[in-house]
Amino acid sequence: MKLYVADNIGFCFGVERALKTVEECLEHEHSVYSLGEIVHNRNVVERLKAKGLKVFHENDTIPEDAQDSVLVVRAHGVAPRVLNELEKNFKRVIDATCPIVLKLFERAKAAKEAGYTVIVFGDENHDEMKALKGHVEDVIVTTRPLALQGKICVLSQTTMSLDDFLSFGAETLKASEPTELLFFNTVCEVTHKREVEVKKMAVECDLVIVVGGKNSSNTKKLARIASKTTKVLHVQDASELEEFDFKGFKKIGVTAGTSTPLEDVGLVVERIRSGG
Ligand code: SF4
Repeated sequence: MKLYVADNIGFCFGVERALKTVEECLEHEHSVYSLGEIVHNRNVVERLKAKGLKVFHENDTIPEDAQDSVLVVRAHGVAPRVLNELEKNFKRVIDATCPIVLKLFERAKAAKEAGYTVIVFGDENHDEMKALKGHVEDVIVTTRPLALQGKICVLSQTTMSLDDFLSFGAETLKASEPTELLFFNTVCEVTHKREVEVKKMAVECDLVIVVGGKNSSNTKKLARIASKTTKVLHVQDASELEEFDFKGFKKIGVTAGTSTPLEDVGLVVERIRSGG
């Protein structure tokens, strides 16, 4: 059996930056919260909780120790109204929103201010899109192409598939009657590279294992893309492969989402080697 491990694995710089911020705070601060789970990965969150990190969700009651606590905003960002409230209640708020996500927010805001109808290809329940809605009034977040008129600006959630975004954009434009059009590719290049790589891997391998959180948008995307071509297992970590029989597979590929630690990928590789 041959084993291929993707070149693009490990944390992306946005996740790395948010995690480093939390780890530095845990070293120097008395009490540290993250706004929601700092990354969409159970193992990482559990490790940080063991070091003292507490998780505060947007609708939670402000904790009693808020005035003595630092709160870190994760890479997906936060609505300005929520950020203001947090700043009033916590000792200090550190905004670790990824610069690529901030750029999407800024583009959408500028287009809205210039009179465009802003339509974003994305999942309205994803935290990045919830934050965007707080930044830009009346922004349309959807995965279904719409028929629009007048000045139109088309953007994408950063973790969506570029191919899907381009199809969505083309269908929206076909159905619409724009007088002016802005079309920006706001898909994150880091996730796009993984998407291109997993497509090739799926053609070459009879099994692709995608390692990462079951609630991670970009990890689920990799699994979905590969499953169009080959058999796919999406696992949180190696423990989910204990019973799996690798015999019979000739080529196995391994890839991972941007919030999956390298160690978790390494353990999956070890498990395949010992069971193949
Ligand atoms: S996937 Fe891209 S946009 Fe999202 S946090 Fe990582 S670098 Fe930033």
